[in-house]
Amino acid sequence: MRTDFTAGQLADPQTAASAAAIRKCVHCGFCTATCPTYVLLGDERDSPRGRIELIRAMLERGGKPTKAEVTHVDRCLSCLACATTCPSGVDYGQLIGHARAHIEAHYPRPWLDRLLRAALPWVLTRPRRLKAALALGRSAQGLEPWFRRLGLAPLAALLRLVPAPARAPRGVGTYPAVEARRGRVILLQGCVEPVMAPQVRDAAVRLLARAGYDVVLAEGEGCCGAISEHLGRGREARDMARHNVLAWGHLAPDAIVTTAAGCGTTLKAYGHLLGQEGVHVAARARDVLEFLGEVGLPPIANATGLSVAYHAPCSLQHGQRLLAQPARLLAEAGFEVRMVPEGHLCCGSAGVYNILQPELAGRLRDRKAANIARTGAAVVAAGNVGCMAQIAPALAAPVVHPVELLDWATGGPRPQALDRLVRAQRRSL
Ligand code: SF4
Ligand code: SF4
Repeated sequence: MRTDFTAGQLADPQTAASAAAIRKCVHCGFCTATCPTYVLLGDERDSPRGRIELIRAMLERGGKPTKAEVTHVDRCLSCLACATTCPSGVDYGQLIGHARAHIEAHYPRPWLDRLLRAALPWVLTRPRRLKAALALGRSAQGLEPWFRRLGLAPLAALLRLVPAPARAPRGVGTYPAVEARRGRVILLQGCVEPVMAPQVRDAAVRLLARAGYDVVLAEGEGCCGAISEHLGRGREARDMARHNVLAWGHLAPDAIVTTAAGCGTTLKAYGHLLGQEGVHVAARARDVLEFLGEVGLPPIANATGLSVAYHAPCSLQHGQRLLAQPARLLAEAGFEVRMVPEGHLCCGSAGVYNILQPELAGRLRDRKAANIARTGAAVVAAGNVGCMAQIAPALAAPVVHPVELLDWATGGPRPQALDRLVRAQRRSL
């Protein structure tokens, strides 16, 4: 695609990177077939190719974006299915990140939208605040239909996502290897997962310790910056990333492991975000399933043969290009893995997309739930807390993180979410 940036504009490294990405696009349209918003809406401006054209015009013109430009960029999930499909290697992640930052800097959003976009990182990146907000949400759940009727769809969507209260996860410290020690890893604590699904951290610590690693939950670590980046708040994301680089600086781990695929994608982009300062972290960042694939599972103690539908989070399959590895690990651990039809399509979670775009996110969730149900599997495994929270209410089968299943197969406790399933199986005997 031709670009017409001025020499002055190209002096900015971000604009130069975006111009290079735009010029790679040859308009072939292969990406449209795998873009969830194009599949749902059929509008070229909601396809990757259409958005690239729209972003080009917006950046070349500079200044205030039009309402239409904002609408179509906002509708993008940042799922990066397009980047996986593109035969020309267009760096769509660069383009959408730049577009969101440009809109954030130059577009005056309505006050309620602004308030929500400022409140989301403020609440979601601090587990204590999130816990308090969830408690408040639980007591206000009866108001959800009223919010919907008043046109406050994002608030109604937030209330629908509020889970039942969970116990506190294990705290900072070093959890020693239980088998012959092979090294030391930092396990990213995250901010949403420990509040919504604390059992995932427990399972990951047990599993990694059984694989021979000391597991460090580091003091002073904070949010990886993913949520702020999703909202186009680049400076905030960079500050968070820098904070973590400092918090981990003295630990010299073999790997920095994460159980939330969205966080893993952001950690791997620290070099891009911080330059030289972040390269060290990016090189050591591993999704927990990727890391276990590299170092090997502990011996299997309990091969159940249970059928598992593997839901591949976009941040893992498109953001980190890890598709086969998680399913392979589950199979190796004795589960019967069933892949989900249309697995490349996002479930609608996408960071805070299900709060900001509840209507489209709801349609994607229902489509994903129908595809998962088609597998007939007894359990669903999804390696990202956002996906787990998004799809679980639409499914009859329990939804767990793959590390919960791997922990169980290698000697850990059965995931609590399976209790109901096991009771029902016992009753039918
Ligand atoms: S990131 Fe996802 S939603 Fe956005 S254009 Fe690409 S495929 Fe479509
Ligand atoms: S597949 Fe790649 S090159 Fe083809 S239209 Fe989409 S972004 Fe452009």
